[in-house]
Amino acid sequence: MPLVPMRQLLDEAAKGGYGVGAFNVNNMEQIQAIMEACQETQSPVIIQASRGALQYSKMIYLQKLMEAAVIDCPEIPVVMHLDHGNSLETCKQAIALGFTSVMIDASLEADGKTVASYEYNVETTKSVVEYAHARGVTVEAELGALGGIEDGHGAGLAADDTTHLTDPDQVVDFVQKTGCDALAVAIGTSHGAYKTMRYDKDGNALPPALALDLIEKIEKNLADAGYKQYPLVMHGSSSVPPELVDIVNKYGGAMKKSMGIPMKDIQFGIARGVRKVNVDTDGRIAITGAIRKVFAEKPEKFDPRDYLKPAREALKQLILGKVKDFGQAGHAKDFKPMTLEDTKKLYAGACGGGKGCCCGG
Ligand SMILES: [Zn+2]
Repeated sequence: MPLVPMRQLLDEAAKGGYGVGAFNVNNMEQIQAIMEACQETQSPVIIQASRGALQYSKMIYLQKLMEAAVIDCPEIPVVMHLDHGNSLETCKQAIALGFTSVMIDASLEADGKTVASYEYNVETTKSVVEYAHARGVTVEAELGALGGIEDGHGAGLAADDTTHLTDPDQVVDFVQKTGCDALAVAIGTSHGAYKTMRYDKDGNALPPALALDLIEKIEKNLADAGYKQYPLVMHGSSSVPPELVDIVNKYGGAMKKSMGIPMKDIQFGIARGVRKVNVDTDGRIAITGAIRKVFAEKPEKFDPRDYLKPAREALKQLILGKVKDFGQAGHAKDFKPMTLEDTKKLYAGACGGGKGCCCGG
């Protein structure tokens, strides 16, 4: 199966009422772990690379690894997605590399740090949508700004910042003006391992307070304007499982007490239109814990495979749990994959939309 456009995966997820995990990768072991888990559970999946990941892997290595994943797992629909593109230029580069989906995050200016104006966001997103749709590529945009920083991207807002949450009254206007396919919403999740500023009297971390009512308002506003089942995206949706943090710390790590997004909150979102769930931090913690364990227990080892193999297995186990909890497991063969040529026609309005049509009728 070739790489598929994200638009199709999200539309299918809407039909099936499930969410799709979007997992960040930088290297071969991460891609293999995700693909093994998705093959085993027959899950469609979004694999995403940030600008940092593209730099780290010199782009070409990551691109070829993605091609290998598709050849290795021909039954699994895979989206190759750019996470937090900062400009039209970056999105163009990703599209040239064969990405089937890009995110333009113009909630921040091109420096990836300064919170941008609404007008800047609309104009920049629109320019990416025009360029990408002409090539059949899906576009995710962001309205409102998330807390935390990841891979150098982020305004450095506090994890509990509430001044940059998505304004539900702007959503319809934004989607209409830009034509974006999916929208990342800021509802109180943040990037990184430290998503909460709330602790009980004994110093134990409490989950971050999410503005879940915003998802309901956004979904309602979109539906009222005729955007039924419009795909929303939750960034920063790692749960930061205490058992994984404990492994890191047991074997010499020094992670602070933390708490991520509880699965029940993610599932609440999925029941109300969240179709893409971004997870990066949990995978990082799983990998680091597994490597630290080998270093601590078998200090005589020096073959990288001795610790990268358990790291890959730890990430696979994590992903196995996520795809079941998000609901994407078992849906790999629900649909015939579309090509970028198909979505190009769809965007150009050349698609008839009838039975047996490229868009599935
Ligand atoms: Zn993000």
